[in-house]
Amino acid sequence: MLMPRLPTTFDADQRYPVDLHMHSTASDGALTPTELVTLCAERGLTHMSLTDHDTMDGIEEAGHAAGQAGLCLIPGCELSTRWQGVNIHVVALMPGGLQGALVEGLIQQREARIQRAAVIAERLEKVGLSNALEKARLHAGSDRPLGRPDFARALVAEGVVPDWASAFKRYLGSGKKGDVKAHWPEISEAVGWIVDSGGVAVIAHPLRHGLTRRKRGLLMDTFQAAGGQAVELVSGQQNPDSTRDLARQLVERDLYASMGSDFHFPGSHAAPGSMSLVPRTAAPPIWQHPRLVHLRDAPPGRLEAG
Ligand code: AMP
Ligand code: MN
Ligand code: MN
Ligand code: MN
Repeated sequence: MLMPRLPTTFDADQRYPVDLHMHSTASDGALTPTELVTLCAERGLTHMSLTDHDTMDGIEEAGHAAGQAGLCLIPGCELSTRWQGVNIHVVALMPGGLQGALVEGLIQQREARIQRAAVIAERLEKVGLSNALEKARLHAGSDRPLGRPDFARALVAEGVVPDWASAFKRYLGSGKKGDVKAHWPEISEAVGWIVDSGGVAVIAHPLRHGLTRRKRGLLMDTFQAAGGQAVELVSGQQNPDSTRDLARQLVERDLYASMGSDFHFPGSHAAPGSMSLVPRTAAPPIWQHPRLVHLRDAPPGRLEAG
């Protein structure tokens, strides 16, 4: 099967059949990698990346499913990092798969996540969630390292908060007791793992970190100095003015523009490929990056490194 060609520039406000940021049961998503790929195919996507938090465990299964379903899968993951006291997420697009320094990096992330869960549990016990670790584990549904969503579900189930949104607003969101960041690597270190391993580093959902425009620019500068080359220009639903402003920050720095829904589970506000329109901009599409340009002509299945 021939894949439709992706354009070389973003020359009109529109959507593309591409979603380079999604989650599966390998981290905090609800669908198995196969179910996710099937849903992407049903929704008409031609190119996708599976970007689970701190792991590439779902990639093999997703690659097989993508071959069957007729779409192109770019191996990836999403790393939690620190920058100036803020928890910044970085997507790693890995055309060559998991290799190089990122192998050790992901082992370190897994360890950090396990240690962090113990600290989060301790803090949540103080606000009324007894046996927090065991309760969060119950909601994880597997033995993967726990994340904040697992604690959010436990807080709701135990009646400490009325719903998921309140769990983040009161205990787990940015700057709250359960937002434990100390275990994550500095952003420059994580970007180094990605780039040294043949990957492309992408700042995830840059408008969701609560940064001012100026601070966001400083983040991009640090990221770029470490070897980072792309930013999610569109992530989920964004205000069009903010998106155009973000595009200008990319153009000023010669950064590539990526796009992703950050899809986690059906029934939420996001669905695969459901992002806002990509604006007309001189920022080059991520698939024009030298490490990824062959994906424009790649056959269905897992992308092979070019
Ligand atoms: P963690 O990877 O353990 O730091 O948890 C981060 C994850 O929690 C994100 O990837 C989302 O899935 C979820 N999350 C973070 N902030 C919020 C929020 N304010 N509301 C709902 N879910 C959130
Ligand atoms: Mn998540
Ligand atoms: Mn994220
Ligand atoms: Mn994500």
